[in-house]
Amino acid sequence: MTLEIRKYGDPVLRAKGARVTVDEKVRKLADDMLETMHAANGVGLAAQQIGQALQLTVVDVAAVEDRPSTLRIDGREVDVRQAMPLILLNPEIKLDESEIVTGVEGCLSFPEISAEIDRSHAVVVNADTLDGKRVQLEATGLLARALQHEIDHLNGILFIDRMSSGVKASLASKLKRMQKETQQAFGKRQKLPRAFAL
Ligand code: ZN
Repeated sequence: MTLEIRKYGDPVLRAKGARVTVDEKVRKLADDMLETMHAANGVGLAAQQIGQALQLTVVDVAAVEDRPSTLRIDGREVDVRQAMPLILLNPEIKLDESEIVTGVEGCLSFPEISAEIDRSHAVVVNADTLDGKRVQLEATGLLARALQHEIDHLNGILFIDRMSSGVKASLASKLKRMQKETQQAFGKRQKLPRAFAL
């Protein structure tokens, strides 16, 4: 089942995710998130983006050929394509800040926007899987970028927070409009907190 993707201006995108334990509900949610991500041609989706403030994210970079990735799982080099999709629960990320790369990023919650964002080239992520195991992922390239973007979502952090002030300023009117549209879709029942103002 595909789920509605929440857009910028929806307060759930600013919510920190609660820890999750594996059960049938979480399995079904992860399955629906994969379907939603693939239907939207995304390479990652966080639970906040479908309206659930949970530490759950899915990633699939298999379809991207022009931006390479590498992956080690528990120290063993694996074929990135075969390892996809990833379903990660309660992830913790460590950034390798020795190499920062600039790359274009989009977000399914910001349909009209893409921008260059600085990210670590390499990351180490410890996360639970649906099998209830804790695994260690060492990723580089696009996969590392996707993991940083998604784990940010799980902590209520959005890619606009990572943009340079100049880029963000150039997008200000677009962002304001998007926020307003989301707010209108919500109706008047929920006024956005001040923190959302640009
Ligand atoms: Zn996103």
